[in-house]
Amino acid sequence: MLAGMKRYDLFLNGQSVPAASGKTFTTTNPADTRETVATYSAGGREDAAAAVAAAQAAFPKWAATTSVARGRILSKASQLLEARKAELAELLVREEGKTLTEATGEVQRAADIFRFYGGLSYTVGGQVIPHDLPGNLMFTRREPLGVVALITPWNFPIAIPVWKLAPALLCGNTVVLKPASQAPAMTLEVAKVLHEAGLPAGVLNVVTGEGRAFGAEIAANKAVTALSFTGSHAVGSALYQAVAPRMIRCQLEMGSKNPTIVLADADLDLAAKLVTIAGFGLTGQACTATSRVIVERSVLPAFTEKLIAAAKAWKVAPGLTPGAQMGPAVNEAELQGNFDAIQQAQAEGAELLWGGARLTEGEFAHGWFMQPAILGNVTPAMKIAQEEVFGPVVAILAVDSFDEAITVANGVQYGLSASVVTRDFKRAMQYAERIEVGVVKVNQISTGLALQAPFGGVKQSSTDSFREQGTAALDFYTRGKTVYLDYSA
Ligand code: NAP
Repeated sequence: MLAGMKRYDLFLNGQSVPAASGKTFTTTNPADTRETVATYSAGGREDAAAAVAAAQAAFPKWAATTSVARGRILSKASQLLEARKAELAELLVREEGKTLTEATGEVQRAADIFRFYGGLSYTVGGQVIPHDLPGNLMFTRREPLGVVALITPWNFPIAIPVWKLAPALLCGNTVVLKPASQAPAMTLEVAKVLHEAGLPAGVLNVVTGEGRAFGAEIAANKAVTALSFTGSHAVGSALYQAVAPRMIRCQLEMGSKNPTIVLADADLDLAAKLVTIAGFGLTGQACTATSRVIVERSVLPAFTEKLIAAAKAWKVAPGLTPGAQMGPAVNEAELQGNFDAIQQAQAEGAELLWGGARLTEGEFAHGWFMQPAILGNVTPAMKIAQEEVFGPVVAILAVDSFDEAITVANGVQYGLSASVVTRDFKRAMQYAERIEVGVVKVNQISTGLALQAPFGGVKQSSTDSFREQGTAALDFYTRGKTVYLDYSA
């Protein structure tokens, strides 16, 4: 068990150093706000510039190593991370609030991602292309971009930094990384692990602190060649505009409004179970969480009854409590945002069918807890059917046909993930073709991703430029060069 408050500085050039300003900030446990989890150095623009300078200096040597040598470090990091799984998972719960089961899975995921890219290191290369003439060879090389900037959200505080970091490092880039201020501990622990695994100083630099200062430096600093960001659409679109004048490579993964469609022929027990896990698991704080359930009217009463029963049985508890299925909201603002969204929906005519109350008694007294919420009578134009909530709030929309279900599902600005529950193979395939998202699930939760498969959204969920994860991630972190070689003379 971890005990006591932790202290982290910035991680620059292989060293833990305080912020130039000397300022600090703290994180608190969302399940018990009396507990300060950690104190961090509050990096500013000057520190971001120092991080970029360290990454720039480290780049030539790192880029000159082979991908196999780099992969060895990632594989070693995987082992070191896995050995610390229990300790890190507990720290993750205390800082971000998710359940221990969820946090343990996330730390394991990070270890698996390092293992995946460690193995992939043997395959990173170009392509031999047939030439028109004899005695000629034509091939492509994959080359690193240089210094890449990574900005990550709090909701998957170890998986997301690692799914950006691992391919960036494997491809020979050096990195400046800014984790979300709400939960930076995992990123700094990963930096320690990578250095223990042999990562040279300066290859990875972590700056904690306010996002705006970091973003301003990334936008202006000519040494930064690419930006990968995951977070809200508001911040992502502002960053996109800020880096546009330098036309650097950009990958932004942002908000969502994911539907699960329940067709009339669906196994309704399965449908209720999938929506409960995808809507209320991770406290609804997943970019791929189900927030709209689009149900064929003929099964609406039966499905709704089953969903309410499942929600009632869903165990809300502090994340370290055995059997907990849903922890607190990450902070007061997110909790209040959930209540505001429910109230606004009711004002527009939606009906609160179950839950949505703040929990304040006993073990909930000092945390940001609420019951999961189910809203009925929701229509597509309502705010609750259009805007991201990022909490355990599920809106049910009734439709009269499969075609209407697809129209409603696609009738939002976002397009990240979607699920359909049906036994009809033909409908499932038609849905897969017509749904406007990047992740398509059939009879599965809308959350949950395979680390070896491409991931990303469409519409306002993403720049829709490059995909993350799997081998697709290598495209973002490398540029191609085509070599023409004549040995005929
Ligand atoms: P956020 O407020 O946009 O913050 C994301 C990151 O950006 C944080 O590190 C934040 O730093 C930083 N930031 C804030 N303002 C900045 C600025 N002006 N310049 C540069 N960086 C800045 O998002 P969040 O609340 O952490 O995460 C929730 C959002 O992420 C949701 O919208 C969710 O859908 C989305 N998300 C998307 C995916 C996906 O793959 N599509 C995955 C997970 C989450 P501070 O913490 O210091 O403010």
